[in-house]
Amino acid sequence: MPAMPLSDRVLMGPGPCNPYPEAVGALGRPMLGHLDPEFLTVLDEVNQNLRTVFRTSNSLTFPVSGTGSAGMEACLVNTVEDGDVVVVGVNGVFGDRMCEVAARCGAEVVRVQAEWGRALDPQELLEAHPSPKVIAVVHAETSTGVRNDIAELGSGKGDSLLLVDCVTSLAGIPVDIDGWGVDLAYSGTQKCLGTPPGLAPVTVSPRARERLVDRSRSWYLDFSMIADYVETGSARAYHHTAPISLVFALHAALDTILAEGLPSVIERHRACGQRLQEGLQGLGFELFAEEGHRLPELTTVWVPEGIDEAEVRAQLLNVYGIEVGGGLGAFSGKLWRIGCMGHTARHRNVTNLIGALRELLG
Ligand code: PLP
Repeated sequence: MPAMPLSDRVLMGPGPCNPYPEAVGALGRPMLGHLDPEFLTVLDEVNQNLRTVFRTSNSLTFPVSGTGSAGMEACLVNTVEDGDVVVVGVNGVFGDRMCEVAARCGAEVVRVQAEWGRALDPQELLEAHPSPKVIAVVHAETSTGVRNDIAELGSGKGDSLLLVDCVTSLAGIPVDIDGWGVDLAYSGTQKCLGTPPGLAPVTVSPRARERLVDRSRSWYLDFSMIADYVETGSARAYHHTAPISLVFALHAALDTILAEGLPSVIERHRACGQRLQEGLQGLGFELFAEEGHRLPELTTVWVPEGIDEAEVRAQLLNVYGIEVGGGLGAFSGKLWRIGCMGHTARHRNVTNLIGALRELLG
């Protein structure tokens, strides 16, 4: 069979997904200066639409220039200094990354682990230390396909700040920053937001702003300086040159999401995830993530015994034009991670993948 053109690739890995066509189109908008009033209007609209998607009224809500990891680093470098205790939930790669970043900020890191594939116990996180400065947790663990519960952490956090990684959850499953009592959260544009990679939407509560470190050890990611550029009503002073075209793309994607309606977008992800998981089980695959905590936007399955998993994924990519992801770390070669995010979360993509697997696996 001839190879599929690259433009027809269906990105069903852990990310990036296929961006919304409107976002791709917006990349070609004429360039504007980063202090051009037209651009600042677009940025204000992006920030407002991010508030809607995060479900928050936090004034400091904006896209950090950089990928999801820049959002993680920005939140930690602005809240943590030498000796601060940070409790981190670890049940996959990205909880582990949070520990590493927090440690580099000088934190005394208290790890609360759960087996990969299982959800964290919120009570264990709350009891891990009597007075941590920050409790940090990944909402949707992309390495395992597991959703961790957040609401209980918000109601039990006491004096601590609650930091949540929403890279794979925002605009894919319900996120409720204010309702859950989350103080800081970050995401990434390349997942359910359906935008090319390169921006990390963040939101910071007034409570967290009161407790930001005096002088962040990162100049580039210093919230107090960036706030002067991104917040409406501020002096809008130059800090660094915003990635204008990516902001245009995010603007278009958010418009598309809100035009469809956030509840409908979330329902589309839910329905596709369910259809995919049922289809895979119908082919004899065993799901990896704990039942009741499975992400619809990122499905993990054990690779069946006796198949050459790298070869099957290569065939999916080269013959059918479908990308799926392999396992990370100890699960490399053992797990597949299949994304249904953003524009990719469509029934037809699920149907094509299940059909392709049926043909390949017989
Ligand atoms: N957090 C989670 C849950 C992720 O899935 C990822 C990336 O996949 C990141 C953080 C890091 O984001 P990035 O790779 O965009 O830097």
